[in-house]
Amino acid sequence: MVRKYKKIKFPSELRFDLTSKDWVVIATGRAKKPKIFKKERRVEIKIPKSKCPFCNIKTQEKPLLVYYQGKKIPLQQGIPKNWTTIVVPNKFPAFLPYPKWEKKIEGNLYQTMNAVGFCELVITRDHEKSLALLPIENIKEVIDSYKERYLTLMKKPFVNYVSIFHNHGAEAAASQPHPHSQIITTPLFDIDLRKALKNSQKHFQRNKKCVNCQMNNWERKVKKRIVFENRNFLAICPFASKAAFEVIISPKKHLSNFEKITEEEEEQLAEVFKVVLGKLYKALNNPPYNFYLKTAPCDGGNYPFYHWHFTVLPKTGIWAGFELGARMEISTITPEKAAAYLKKQ
Ligand SMILES: [Zn+2]
Ligand SMILES: [Zn+2]
Repeated sequence: MVRKYKKIKFPSELRFDLTSKDWVVIATGRAKKPKIFKKERRVEIKIPKSKCPFCNIKTQEKPLLVYYQGKKIPLQQGIPKNWTTIVVPNKFPAFLPYPKWEKKIEGNLYQTMNAVGFCELVITRDHEKSLALLPIENIKEVIDSYKERYLTLMKKPFVNYVSIFHNHGAEAAASQPHPHSQIITTPLFDIDLRKALKNSQKHFQRNKKCVNCQMNNWERKVKKRIVFENRNFLAICPFASKAAFEVIISPKKHLSNFEKITEEEEEQLAEVFKVVLGKLYKALNNPPYNFYLKTAPCDGGNYPFYHWHFTVLPKTGIWAGFELGARMEISTITPEKAAAYLKKQ
């Protein structure tokens, strides 16, 4: 028997993500209008400035990098009163700078190794102002500190990948409300990175083109999913968005290594962050989000096929069970609608 369907008001579709080779679900039935995202409830953690560990920076480990109004301050000068961005070792690190990388096996079955690596925090001065509300000059300091720390950490033993990420809001796992990013080095690659590297290499070999360059060229041609662009960078809601209002920021040129970013590119990237995070702030009423960097590893390998980028993922999900079980992400708005909505903010 053929079942008859009523006219479908909110079509759902599966879209293929060229970079992860995963399918995502674009199910617009629940979200209705973009404005609905604005009304989502937020959990707020309030910590007064007097009790904030980052406002009281002296309670932290010795700084590794200090900025004051766009300029790096020599460390021997101590922390100036009016510092604007600071990098410190994380007091509660998940990875530690062990002198050796040791592996053990239990019962010829379970493997263990010591979590060797470095954990650092990049903290901006204002207790409340998130990146979206900071001047471009301060955002540039944050980007510059990512680069500077990357260049230092990549030379250390057992540092094969440097993860750089930023959590904003309690739902996005920011345990401290004071704005900060994190840098964590790992001796090994996580499964997503391994997949992304393998897929982009295969794509490059097969098509003689980088998958991100191909996507960027297409997006610039069809103009349906562009949120913002400047001379060096493009911000898009990707065709196979993993979540509503996902934004990918990538250089227009094919560049594999984030740490080689130039001064001019840093400025341009700061502008893109300011615009994109500002649009999300307005469009979704200061949503919780995570952003993270994906770049070629620093394990001594050769990754000319890889294209570095930042992924910004607002937390608007309501489907956690399915996503965890089926490993298939569901976005409740089409990236075309999300991009159009962000563009007009
Ligand atoms: Zn604070
Ligand atoms: Zn490329």
